[in-house]
Amino acid sequence: MDQHPILPLDFFDGRSARPQPVQAWVEPGTLRLRNAEGQILSYPLRRVRWPERQRHGQRQAQLPDGAVLSAVDARAWDDWARASGIDDSMTVRWMQSWRLVTAALLLLMLSLAAAWRWGIPWSAGAIVTLLPAQAERQIGSQAMQSFDTRWFKPSTLAPARQQAIAADFAALLSAGGQPTPAYQLHFRSAGKELGPNALALPGGHIVLTDALAELLVDQPDALAGVLAHELGHVQQRHGLRMVVQASLLASMAGLVVGDFSAVLVGIPTVLGQQAYSRDFEREADAYARELLRAGARSPTAMLIFFERIEGYKKEHSPPTLPIALASHPAHEERKRFFGAAP
Ligand SMILES: [Zn+2]
Repeated sequence: MDQHPILPLDFFDGRSARPQPVQAWVEPGTLRLRNAEGQILSYPLRRVRWPERQRHGQRQAQLPDGAVLSAVDARAWDDWARASGIDDSMTVRWMQSWRLVTAALLLLMLSLAAAWRWGIPWSAGAIVTLLPAQAERQIGSQAMQSFDTRWFKPSTLAPARQQAIAADFAALLSAGGQPTPAYQLHFRSAGKELGPNALALPGGHIVLTDALAELLVDQPDALAGVLAHELGHVQQRHGLRMVVQASLLASMAGLVVGDFSAVLVGIPTVLGQQAYSRDFEREADAYARELLRAGARSPTAMLIFFERIEGYKKEHSPPTLPIALASHPAHEERKRFFGAAP
């Protein structure tokens, strides 16, 4: 037995908090401990959870019966472990169990992310179909009022120009021959933060800024395309869905924190701070392209809009209201989507 290095260690049997002094040594495949009474305990080496060497301070090994071996002198432990042939490869089992824990945590985080990514949008979609139209109208006019206070001034466009834009858009819609959702077109002047822009709010409110009407003054089809995109948001009730999603998230947070009061008060804030998702934008683009085609106008007119907005953004600070059309980048994907159309 002399050939095996022996280390005095504290042994905790897992029932009593009092350590028992033991002598520990390693024989091939087996860890042996001798206690003060001379009894010898044996453990298969591979079932012992050895501490990783980089851990500082006290060394502790976990034994398969729940007992723990402990050494205050880390250096003496490390020397003994090395001399006994317990190398880093034997700590792998220990690390593997950590990998399992990490994998489980990762899985949990992924399912939470999935709930956030798909579960909440799905629930929001379901809730929106149950909400009475009256509720959406109220939310919409509340949001419109709040936006008027925060972002807009009355339009300075000539009434005749406003009427021409509205009439051209109505003509596009009726040319398609399909039923379209109810909407209200609002002309507004906006500060530099919004620039040439358009947006849709719950309840069918569509806002067009004077600057955008001027930017596309010679491009009625592009202007109609922009309004058709916003009508797509109306048709899919994206504004309401965004509000409901945010409320669901807030009430989930409320479940944790126990405060629901902020949920409903925050509706205009949600609409003022969040952007429509890429999915929502794709749906609105698809709706716009459909309307333009049905109305015998070329969807490529939208490329002129993208081009001019990009030109505007190069010379001015980009718009800051995330929900608004010109605030999101004109992705190559969107250009291809409209550009590929005949
Ligand atoms: Zn949009």
